Amino acid sequence: MALTILVTGGRGFFGRRIVEALRAHGHEVAAPGRPEFDLLDPVSVARTLKVVRPHTVVHSAAYYGGLGICVAEPARIFHDNVLMAAHLLDGMAAAGSVKRFVSIGSACAYPGAVAGDMNESDFWAGALHPSVEAYGFTKKVQLVGARAYARQHGWTVQCPQITNLYGEHDVFTEYRSHVAAALIKKFADAKLEHKPEVVCWGTGAPVREFLYSGDAAEGVARLLETDYAEPLNIGTGIGTSIKELSEVTARVTGFEGRIVWDTSKPDGVLRKVLDVSRMKQILNWQPPTSLEAGLKKTVDWYLANKEAADART
Ligand code: GDP
Repeated sequence: MALTILVTGGRGFFGRRIVEALRAHGHEVAAPGRPEFDLLDPVSVARTLKVVRPHTVVHSAAYYGGLGICVAEPARIFHDNVLMAAHLLDGMAAAGSVKRFVSIGSACAYPGAVAGDMNESDFWAGALHPSVEAYGFTKKVQLVGARAYARQHGWTVQCPQITNLYGEHDVFTEYRSHVAAALIKKFADAKLEHKPEVVCWGTGAPVREFLYSGDAAEGVARLLETDYAEPLNIGTGIGTSIKELSEVTARVTGFEGRIVWDTSKPDGVLRKVLDVSRMKQILNWQPPTSLEAGLKKTVDWYLANKEAADART
């Protein structure tokens, strides 16, 4: 029987890219979804894991979103993500087939006040930024849980810490989207509707790192080919201010109007950029897609799939 990798959230924005990348690397991949595999229902989780009998589980599913949803729904973010991880780890232990668990982590799990780029050694060094405390902390809970189960059941745990993602199939609506998708929709719609201005949140000063989802998935697939079991940052290591992002997005969408900053909206963390030196060394790789090229692909996809993309909340 072929050895199967099970990807949770394998039909979602990032999970689907992980599935593609793993298949391109020659793996047999299962990506069950609801209702037969509902991570909030421990019975369905245990049942599906017993049927699939994966040797590796990649946990990409999460209830998450951009700064807007992190501020508006921290309780649901905490509840759903902690329960999904607990049900999954229990189901994996009961299935008895699992040898490796890949806990997809996030740059949001880093302390909120790291000076400079965030190195793996900073991971436990301080309090999270209040704007993303619930989401970031669920990624820490997931990692601690994974290590506990791994110790008891003899698994290997791998923990890629992924920076801000963007790409096709993202959520573009203002309430849930991350900034790159939010700005793509705002600028592309303004261009289509001949609007004179686009309103962006905050001051434009915060700095973020933007990683194309297909590149992030390739990084995860490469990590699986190693036995590296410590947290590993996956990013570009390149900081871009939100103001610069707005200018590149305006260029890529062809918007030539005014950009206005709504400072009543939050800025969030001032700087979030990963130190990717360990990634380059361990994976012998770095993400090939430039911000402009990745945004162009995403804008093209958004325009070609606008109706379905706008309906996704
Ligand atoms: P974060 O990285 O967890 O803070 O989440 P986001 O990707 O949602 O936001 C990053 C930054 O983009 C923040 O400084 C926001 O103020 C800024 N930003 C500017 N315009 C927007 C927008 O329309 N939506 C979102 N989500 N962020 C925006």
